[in-house]
Amino acid sequence: MPKFELVACRRWVWRQKKLALASSFFSTATQHKNENMGRPALPGPPPIRVGLTESAGRVCYFCLRKLGITTSCQSQAASFCSEECQKQSKVFHDVEIRADWSAYDDYCRSHGLKYPLLVKRFACMVISGGASPDLLDILQPASLSPEVISLMEEDFDLLRSAFTVADIPNEQVAFLTKQWYIGILARIRVNAFRVEVAGGLYEDLLSSAAASIEAEAALGNAVYMLPSFYNHDCDPNAHIIWIENVDARLKALRDVDAGEELRICYIDASMDRDARQTLLSQGFGFQCSCSRCLSGD
Ligand SMILES: [Zn+2]
Ligand SMILES: [Zn+2]
Repeated sequence: MPKFELVACRRWVWRQKKLALASSFFSTATQHKNENMGRPALPGPPPIRVGLTESAGRVCYFCLRKLGITTSCQSQAASFCSEECQKQSKVFHDVEIRADWSAYDDYCRSHGLKYPLLVKRFACMVISGGASPDLLDILQPASLSPEVISLMEEDFDLLRSAFTVADIPNEQVAFLTKQWYIGILARIRVNAFRVEVAGGLYEDLLSSAAASIEAEAALGNAVYMLPSFYNHDCDPNAHIIWIENVDARLKALRDVDAGEELRICYIDASMDRDARQTLLSQGFGFQCSCSRCLSGD
């Protein structure tokens, strides 16, 4: 499996799709009110998110907020920033704690795989009735070689057997076929964001003219629906940021004209043209023809 070091996100380009956004803010948690921001959360399907192993115990198991005072579930080593997060995590956690994940997690860890953990989380959401198994079908999948697909079979078997051993009724895991697993993984591979929570206040970030946000180390990965539809540009006019938790926000990097398409950069924009083209082609399957690339910059 090729490894790409993508700075902000992995996602696909839907070149025909142009979204007119009325707001620079989108909630990534369906039930989050974000009352203190004074703006309502847009309704939408639940995002899928999971903390990186290294973040375990340091961040909320649900929203990836850095932990201060915690509400812990000691037996499963899951810590939450609030009772609300603990409550909302039931959409996957009640199913998750019924199974023994040691073989699956060990396999992912030893092979350096993080996306299967998102599939596991998603599968738990589906089993609990919190998400539809076709939730991600609208997203473009990565094209996978037969070799890459065959590598996925082992983690699929481990995932499936974890549910079987946990006595999850067959009808509840009927969706979990090898084809489903590979399809979800193929979509997650190009649509997952690496969540890097920025330090500082939201207001400071909004008033900052800096194009790049100083971010701390990645805390986890997440798949959102709306942010997956932004097209790429090597000289983007918008940037997705995380302020305090997995709720993503869109920040304009310069004045945006009415009707102008908002575009984000999928990769490290500071790389030279050849490096960007290689990464975008291999990681996302397209040749970039943005104005910056066309100018040879
Ligand atoms: Zn939380
Ligand atoms: Zn470009």
